[in-house]
Amino acid sequence: MFHSTQSEKVSVIFLAGGKGARMGSTLPKQYLPLAGKPLLFYSLDLFLHHPEVGEVIIVCAHPFRSLFRENMKFADPGERRQDSVYNGLQQVSSHFKWVAVHDGVRPFITQEMISSLFLEGKKTGVATLGVPIKATIKEVSEKKEVIKTWNRELLWEIQTPQFLNKAVMEEGFAYTREKNLTVTDYVSLAEMMRHPVKIVEGSYQNIKITTPEDLRYAEISIRHCL
Ligand code: C5P
Repeated sequence: MFHSTQSEKVSVIFLAGGKGARMGSTLPKQYLPLAGKPLLFYSLDLFLHHPEVGEVIIVCAHPFRSLFRENMKFADPGERRQDSVYNGLQQVSSHFKWVAVHDGVRPFITQEMISSLFLEGKKTGVATLGVPIKATIKEVSEKKEVIKTWNRELLWEIQTPQFLNKAVMEEGFAYTREKNLTVTDYVSLAEMMRHPVKIVEGSYQNIKITTPEDLRYAEISIRHCL
């Protein structure tokens, strides 16, 4: 079995600070039951048991902290997802060089996906899971007229977890905060610094639970696997 030294271990920022407005439920979607268990625990348990993970920082609102086992590290959610990641980053212990960020609403990752991402990330410095786009993507004007059809051979849908060298991430945050920029994923922090970002093939099953339909689909897939 592979044992990481302390300096090779990864600090994981686990995002569970959203309100999940698109789900239309009062309980944020990450806490909704999936086959009888709050959906965020599927991926959280994988990180807690992964041999290369040195710590997990859960970004979540105070009232939910009692759901987690004792001696977990927490950070407060921010207004935007990137603010939640920033708050999580402030809690990363100083000896960690590597940080991974995961959306707590992606329950279908596997230990193998985490390991492949970490392996590539440690080589390149920044990496993310993703899958090739299956659909045809067109850019459309406000008048709903097609402007352009993108070459889908070059398009990938990006997933989490994402992996970043902590120093690159800090540089990216300093830049976005100075210029008041919004990013929709976390490796964008590195892209802005012109740092190369490698994609590791994830899985089409690694969906983000966003709407009630996604949750129903997840429930069916999980029951088929049980
Ligand atoms: O809302 P969305 O699906 O993009 O959220 C992805 C993940 O980010 C979820 O786990 C959600 O709880 C988290 N999040 C957060 N802080 C925010 C917004 C979302 O931690 N301000």
